[in-house]
Amino acid sequence: MAGDCIFCKIGKGEMKGDIVDRDAQVFVLRDIHPQAPVHLLVMPFKHIASIADVGEADAPVVTRMVLMANKVAAREGIAQRGYRLAVNCRDEGGQTVGHLHMHVLGGRQLTGHLG
Ligand code: 5GP
Ligand code: ZN
Repeated sequence: MAGDCIFCKIGKGEMKGDIVDRDAQVFVLRDIHPQAPVHLLVMPFKHIASIADVGEADAPVVTRMVLMANKVAAREGIAQRGYRLAVNCRDEGGQTVGHLHMHVLGGRQLTGHLG
């Protein structure tokens, strides 16, 4: 893990976080500043700095992230109406926490544009 990474610390239970689901590889955190009625963050326990840093060996964990995102979307009741999975990458991509995470957003009509 990166020593000062907040998401690593939450994953290890060293910092408080509202973890709503987990499996062996990934966990789901409720976003502290929700942008929609449902706003969850799906991320690996392993420290990966961004989606650009995903390597061949990480393919299974990325798949787990998508499957987990779909699972929690269904449980939150937004699967049928629809939701957005978003990954911001590095500075100009709008990434503010340097630990790979996928936003699961839903529960309202999201705007059609990106950015
Ligand atoms: P990014 O901008 O990197 O794509 O998304 C980072 C997200 O993490 C933001 O939506 C922000 O609200 C959320 N966040 C930042 N710090 C914390 C925290 O300590 N706990 C939780 N649950 N979410 C956080
Ligand atoms: Zn980390």
